[in-house]
Amino acid sequence: MVVDKRIVFRPKDIGVVRFVCRKCGNEAAWNPKSEQSHPPHECPFCETRWQREHGGLWETVRTLRRVLSFTSREPDDESFEVRFEIEDRGGCT
Ligand SMILES: [Zn+2]
Repeated sequence: MVVDKRIVFRPKDIGVVRFVCRKCGNEAAWNPKSEQSHPPHECPFCETRWQREHGGLWETVRTLRRVLSFTSREPDDESFEVRFEIEDRGGCT
């Protein structure tokens, strides 16, 4: 028997984005739906710089903020809904 598990969620279901520092292993939580907050520019523990001068992952996460902020404020589009699906990497057989 093969069991496929799918975890599907809507953008508005995302509450917190966690930044995990590769240098010290600590985490910084960030609420992307808050208009006032910005993704952390650096690790709050060891001060390793996370924001790059030109693009990179940090900039992409900042762009994600616009998506999450919009989808948490606005009603769903009447013709479609966006959902994310997490890959099942574990697999049960
Ligand atoms: Zn760190």
